[in-house]
Amino acid sequence: MNIHVLHCGYIQVSETVPFGNRIDLKNTARQLSAPEKARVLLPVCCYLIEHPKGLILVDTGWCREISPEGVYDAKAVARVLPPHLAALFHPYLPAGQAIDEQLAARGIQPEDFAYVLLTHLDADHVAGLKRVNRAAHILLPEDEYFWSCRTVYKARQPKSLWLDQPIERRYYRGSPLGPMRWAIDLFGDESIQLVNLPGHTDGQAAVLVQDGAGFVLLAADAAFSPRNWQERITPGFGFNRELQLKSLDWIRTMAEKPNCRAVLCSHDPAVPEGMILCE
Ligand SMILES: [Zn+2]
Repeated sequence: MNIHVLHCGYIQVSETVPFGNRIDLKNTARQLSAPEKARVLLPVCCYLIEHPKGLILVDTGWCREISPEGVYDAKAVARVLPPHLAALFHPYLPAGQAIDEQLAARGIQPEDFAYVLLTHLDADHVAGLKRVNRAAHILLPEDEYFWSCRTVYKARQPKSLWLDQPIERRYYRGSPLGPMRWAIDLFGDESIQLVNLPGHTDGQAAVLVQDGAGFVLLAADAAFSPRNWQERITPGFGFNRELQLKSLDWIRTMAEKPNCRAVLCSHDPAVPEGMILCE
């Protein structure tokens, strides 16, 4: 299996988003009003997995409508995101980086995908979904879909980006994996497993990709960089700090295993575009 890291745009956010170490209204207010000089530039990563049972895409990044000219365009952002998310993210999408543009450059059609896996419903992970919705299956954990009814997620996860999309849902089941011991074994062979890592959202999934020799963990937004689990600093953008810590502690146990090839976070600026050879 090969895993390709794709950058599907960027966010310009307060430094407290990756390393806030607490979640409260004061912190949130600071994130929404952060001046440019207090913001950091982070990628929005998606992953293209070449699996023996078909192509798999993990998350979909931003859509072209948010950044028509490939630069930060506040008016365009305001047409896609509600004001508070526009203020939080300051997103942009360089030319050629939208998921459909990157796939076209590789000669891949959306219908070539066996699965599009959504780690969670936050806007930066699903805005590109409508461009790849002809995949054979689009899969989201039922637990993430269900809890999108919470007020906090109504604010974070605009329904216009995903509610009318052909998303299939599966429940997590009992598993040795993750702090909740909940996972979805996609093919029943443990090669691709969605592992519940709550805290950022209730139902968020990390994607564990493994073969006989080792594994790669795609940690989604449970962490923003290895610093989070190495120093037990929770991201300042999330829902439940106690659960964030449980998820970070589990990631650390996985990262320290000898057969761990990599743990990748969706918004880690140290993860360049490129390819990881998994087998
Ligand atoms: Zn994110």
